[in-house]
Amino acid sequence: MDFEFSEEEVRFRESVQEFCKRYIEPRWVEIDEGGKIPLELIKKMGEQGLFMIPVSEEYGGMGGTITMAAIAIEEIAYHDPSVAVAVYALLNNGWPFIMEKYSLEDVKREILPKVARGEAFYGIASTESQGGSDVAGIKTLAIKKGDKWIINGEKTYISGVREIQELPQGGGYFLVAKTGKVEYGHRNITAFNLILKWDGKVREGWKPTLFEEIGRRGISTGAFTLEDFELEDKYRIGEENKGFYYLMEGFNVARILVAAATIGSGRWAIDQAIEWIRNRRLFEGRPISSFQGVSFRFSELYGELEAAKLLTYRAAWLADKIYIERDRKWREQDLNVPVALCKMKAPEATGKIYEELMKWYGAYAYTKDCNAFRGWIGTLSYLVGAEGAQNIMRIIIARDIIGREYVKG
Ligand SMILES: Cc1cc2nc3c(=O)[nH]c(=O)nc-3n(C[C@H](O)[C@H](O)[C@H](O)COP(=O)(O)OP(=O)(O)OC[C@H]3O[C@@H](n4cnc5c(N)ncnc54)[C@H](O)[C@@H]3O)c2cc1C
Repeated sequence: MDFEFSEEEVRFRESVQEFCKRYIEPRWVEIDEGGKIPLELIKKMGEQGLFMIPVSEEYGGMGGTITMAAIAIEEIAYHDPSVAVAVYALLNNGWPFIMEKYSLEDVKREILPKVARGEAFYGIASTESQGGSDVAGIKTLAIKKGDKWIINGEKTYISGVREIQELPQGGGYFLVAKTGKVEYGHRNITAFNLILKWDGKVREGWKPTLFEEIGRRGISTGAFTLEDFELEDKYRIGEENKGFYYLMEGFNVARILVAAATIGSGRWAIDQAIEWIRNRRLFEGRPISSFQGVSFRFSELYGELEAAKLLTYRAAWLADKIYIERDRKWREQDLNVPVALCKMKAPEATGKIYEELMKWYGAYAYTKDCNAFRGWIGTLSYLVGAEGAQNIMRIIIARDIIGREYVKG
């Protein structure tokens, strides 16, 4: 058992920290208030190699690991605890990784280098208005006509809708749609590289709208309809009707990175807490950390974050064994529980830290001078459902540990 990061990983973390200190930390409040990550920052992040870390170098990636991607996302979120910049980066790490695995060569060469350079966005479009947790129930339909797919449907609560419109090259999504006919189940789902704006041109049949979010405002959330949207068959991802399984693989990677993001934000909250409870003095000048009602709770929360961190890097280590090293000792199903555990624990630990930090701040927390609320609401996005609802993580864990037949609803 080895609890140390390698020398390469330590150096990589330091280089990301240096970048974040210089380009992200001074702007994170402005990004959250303004509701936008500046395009020049996205470009700089691309130049720094913060997108597509686990993707092969031949497509513009770093040829790194999922552990390295988790390190980068954790650091980005520490320096922007609202997590918006980290979310932008994690989507453009996790989903291109799965896209690379199953897409055609010329499509990878067409899409991935632009995502790596921060000129185009590549996210995930799975959720529909009738309920994101029930992927088997999606209704977006792709019908094959000759060498094209005609796609009709609606996706909602999708990250990056505005960025696709604003980035010079555009971008798109790992889309899941029913093929043939809309029938409940996992088997007739196919995945596509849904290119919405490419080479600066918006493709016909795409109608986007934007939501006004309460938090992590730097990255947009929106919806879109597809009306007789035409997509060439070369953009299909892998085999027809296997899309559900590719989606689950994508979630395995993305959820580890989500956990890393909330850990970075939680670490920031812990540092703010230490500073505050040491210096806030009450009852004849005693630091509030000298009251056990404060310090005991601090210790518990610190422990929860440390536990979540171990779960997250254990899941990243295992994902590297399975997806990068292709170590036959492990099967993909072995990731189910470790990934669900870190996606369940990390946002919940960080959410609790923020709630307590706000109380330790007292009335100050309830003003916009105190930025803790930005981290709290940003983390909340992962408690209300982003990258999979918390109860869905509990279902995955219960199914694997107790047994599918004993927990069927
Ligand atoms: C900020 C933000 C960004 C997002 N970005 C994207 C994106 O880029 N792409 C994308 O595809 N989606 C995105 N989503 C959507 C996200 O994937 C969904 O929120 C998630 O899948 C849950 O779906 P839902 O919100 O429709 O809730 P529902 O699925 O309707 O669930 C509602 C509630 O019921 C609970 N629940 C559901 N089923 C069960 C069950 N069997 N047992 C117990 N409880 C259950 C859930 O835990 C939840 O609390 C984003 C969401 C947010 C908040």
